[in-house]
Amino acid sequence: MIEQAKKALDILLEGNNRFVNGESTVTNRCVETLKSHKNGQSPIACIVTCSDSRVIPELIFDKGFGELFVVRCAGAVIGENILESVEYAVEHLHVPLVMVLSHDDCGVMKAAKEMYPKEPEHLKLLIRSVYEIIDSETECYNELARDYTLTKKRKLLKRSEILRQAYHDKKFEIVRGYLCFDSGEVKILN
Ligand SMILES: [Zn+2]
Repeated sequence: MIEQAKKALDILLEGNNRFVNGESTVTNRCVETLKSHKNGQSPIACIVTCSDSRVIPELIFDKGFGELFVVRCAGAVIGENILESVEYAVEHLHVPLVMVLSHDDCGVMKAAKEMYPKEPEHLKLLIRSVYEIIDSETECYNELARDYTLTKKRKLLKRSEILRQAYHDKKFEIVRGYLCFDSGEVKILN
């Protein structure tokens, strides 16, 4: 892993460790910090995650204003808007790390597992996208959420020339994470 990415990942995991142990600092969540960033931002990482109200990157990584560039949609399915947002983070904000973060009890994964292979009436694009890796053998939707992070990583690189080139040039790294609701821990998936 490139050094800047490793450094950013260590900072995220240290913050998560503080969160898990009830030692969050919240020092960067005041108006003074916001004011200090009023003319620009240089976040340490881009987090691509679900809109789920229980998944709040700044809280689980003990971060505040200006530290994380967060890209969210239900299921964190990789569509065009998500792609362009990640491109912005890498190309313009120069984040060395992109984390694709999934989580326990994801509604989109649950719906996909329950409906497969029926054509969904709601959340069509999101659920169809998850169908790409589902089959009748799929038992656990949390397992599905973990596996799906690999698809997301591949899609980021396959569908964006900008990201592919930057990745090839070792400008940034992509890691896959999984948030466990019981512990608050973010596990890094290999
Ligand atoms: Zn979710």
